[in-house]
Amino acid sequence: MTNTDWANKDFYRVLGVSKDASAADIKKAYRKLARANHPDSNPGNAAAEERFKAVAEAYDVVGDEEKRKKYDEMRTLFGSGYGPFRPGTGSPEGQPFDLGDIFGGAGGPGGGLGDILGGMFGGGGAGTRRTTRSSASRRGADIETTTTIGFTDAIDGVTVSLRLASEAPCPDCRGTGARPGSMPRVCPECEGVGMRAASVGGAFTLNETCPSCRGRGMIVDDPCPTCNGSGRGLSDRTIQARIPAGVRDGQRIKLRGKGAPGEHGGPAGDLYVVVRVKPHPVFGRSGDNLTITVPVSFDEAALGAEIKVPTLLGVPVTVRIPAGTPSGRTFRVRGRGATRKDGTKGDLLVTVEVQVPAALSDEARAAVQAYREATGGVDLRSGMFAS
Ligand SMILES: [Zn+2]
Ligand SMILES: [Zn+2]
Repeated sequence: MTNTDWANKDFYRVLGVSKDASAADIKKAYRKLARANHPDSNPGNAAAEERFKAVAEAYDVVGDEEKRKKYDEMRTLFGSGYGPFRPGTGSPEGQPFDLGDIFGGAGGPGGGLGDILGGMFGGGGAGTRRTTRSSASRRGADIETTTTIGFTDAIDGVTVSLRLASEAPCPDCRGTGARPGSMPRVCPECEGVGMRAASVGGAFTLNETCPSCRGRGMIVDDPCPTCNGSGRGLSDRTIQARIPAGVRDGQRIKLRGKGAPGEHGGPAGDLYVVVRVKPHPVFGRSGDNLTITVPVSFDEAALGAEIKVPTLLGVPVTVRIPAGTPSGRTFRVRGRGATRKDGTKGDLLVTVEVQVPAALSDEARAAVQAYREATGGVDLRSGMFAS
């Protein structure tokens, strides 16, 4: 509802009284019409409801001495007094006519007529207000938890059972906060509504949380010893959570809607799972790639070889080592790494490490001696002593 609508209306006609009716007559007319059109007596009758609102709106203005005076002044200002208001029309003095002034003076903060009517209807009865208040839905809280999974499960993805402790009504007092066997009593200050009207000046009121019961509507004289009267407790629940393939150690995974349940139909919160990944005895991770270090002999590195390398899935792959491969060189085996988000796979990075035998047979010793003689005279470190 806008102020323009407000100015277009003939509140006297709505109430069926003359412009110079007495305050008592206006009140009498309003009561009669409000009773006749009250939604409680006309369930499902939209027309009656409309009339009821119009009557309440009219009485809100002309039933108040101060506002009625300003309303009358405004109507006079526009000539006939009852002609339709044209938006954008200036006052005779050429000043833009600001309807906000009318309410600004009388109403204080919180303004618009819609708010006023809203408060009025909300305040019509305790029952109405209670419904409005308790139907406010609230989103559930976010929860964070940690889980540890195996190395292979991190690569493939896994479904884990998570035990979550979340807020729930105290089991001993079933959420009332009162000692079992006793009952909380209805707050006398707000009559159980949890809200009370606070005057902010003039005929205008705002609802505020009841200070006596802090909005609960109930007062606990003998608090429940388990929850100290808060009515809150913890409950355990176990959920199944899917950890996606390719998760890394320390990664935080968001599971939408798996957090604490919402209240009054509100959505559930989210669950965050911090994933710890156990190390593997053979394989390591480097992003989407798997890593492995394999030993090779000197002759394999020097002469070249085809070596069998294990993969995480158990089927070995053959890696060709070219002749003259230095220790520490890394070879890439495509598609044998961790699964990426898009379903493709990273690579397996195979690093070779030349092993020196701790002991040699007589035959092997003779062969290495022969090798030394065959390569005699080459000093690998000569370049380090340039002088
Ligand atoms: Zn209260
Ligand atoms: Zn309790």
